[in-house]
Amino acid sequence: VIRCKAAVAWAPSKPLSVEEVEVAPPKAREVRIKIVATGICHSDDHILKGSMPNVEFPVIPGHEGAGIVESIGEGVTSVKPGDKVIPLCIPQCGECSFCQNPESNFCQKSHFSEPQNLLPDKTSRFSCKGKQIHHFLWISTFAEYTVVPEYAVAKIDAAAPLDKVCLFGCGFSTGYGAAINTAKVKPGSTCAVFGLGGVGLSVVMGCKVAGASRIIAVDINKDKFAKAKELGATDCIDPRDFKKPIQEVLSEMTGQGVDYSFEAIGHADTMIAALASCNMNTGVCVMVGVLDSAISIDPMLLLTGRTWKGTMLGGWKTRECIPKLVSGYLEKKFNPDLLITHTLPFTQVNEGFELLRAGK
Ligand code: NAD
Ligand code: ZN
Repeated sequence: VIRCKAAVAWAPSKPLSVEEVEVAPPKAREVRIKIVATGICHSDDHILKGSMPNVEFPVIPGHEGAGIVESIGEGVTSVKPGDKVIPLCIPQCGECSFCQNPESNFCQKSHFSEPQNLLPDKTSRFSCKGKQIHHFLWISTFAEYTVVPEYAVAKIDAAAPLDKVCLFGCGFSTGYGAAINTAKVKPGSTCAVFGLGGVGLSVVMGCKVAGASRIIAVDINKDKFAKAKELGATDCIDPRDFKKPIQEVLSEMTGQGVDYSFEAIGHADTMIAALASCNMNTGVCVMVGVLDSAISIDPMLLLTGRTWKGTMLGGWKTRECIPKLVSGYLEKKFNPDLLITHTLPFTQVNEGFELLRAGK
């Protein structure tokens, strides 16, 4: 058993508390990882607020990490102690019908089909003050050590800087893949990206690499515009600067609406606005933001031919593709380093959330 620090969410709507926890050794087909760096994704904030479906408290959140294998359980063959790895918030069991379908990355062992609050044998490897603590998405990266099933970990290049490539565990891969895999943005097309956090800025990067000729970035925080431009946005607009709904503004800017729109915020009104912003004939809208309540739309929006899609982690088959994305980064094909705004010691994790909430 390893004793180390972890950030525990004891109950919804409370700050995280950094505690000493016990992390049990990996059982068969499990891997114990020393987490070296972790990002903060807005989805972690959804958990703290208690609005992420199926999560059980107390829990150790975090799902955008990178680390080094510390030990392996019986039967593990794909990684060994000392390997650099990224824990995967969407696993790839390789056996279910979704994994076997080349068109999908949503493994049936993922959280939204089967909660991942306990490891597959229905027990936890974490305890604190004599209490069992739940895992989050099986990977709980807000801990100095974590235990994950073998099919929820990907070995990456030994040269990868872990404090940078942790972003491949969620934000970068999600946004970049939403453009490349889910929307399949075509060269010369026009795109609109709603929300310029880590995810939305990564969508901008994906649209640019796919050859979009116009990328319109939409956010209510103008401080995000400089970075969006640096990453490839051609226009940046703040919906609060217009009297008209933003979908009308975008229609006027583009003639009949964009070819591809992306919602990377997680609000009902922006999801509907993003859908209405792509053209009524062949427009494709990708929903990336997470919302836990129902929304209603006018069916006419889809009747004329629009497509409305969702994405989980940008459609990448994780064990196969995340290591390739990391290699692409080492070959300088894209540079998500620009997404890193602050670097804090682990004990200041709550300050990290304050910066996220303040739009910084
Ligand atoms: P973030 O908080 O860093 O960024 C959100 C951005 O949206 C901010 O820049 C904010 O100013 C902007 N915004 C807020 N309200 C707005 C409005 N009304 N109009 C325009 N812009 C507005 O968040 P993030 O980490 O980039 O995550 C974005 C969303 O994506 C979250 O809902 C998160 O849960 C979700 N997410 C989904 C997946 C997936 O696999 N589908 C993966 C990661 C994150
Ligand atoms: Zn995330």
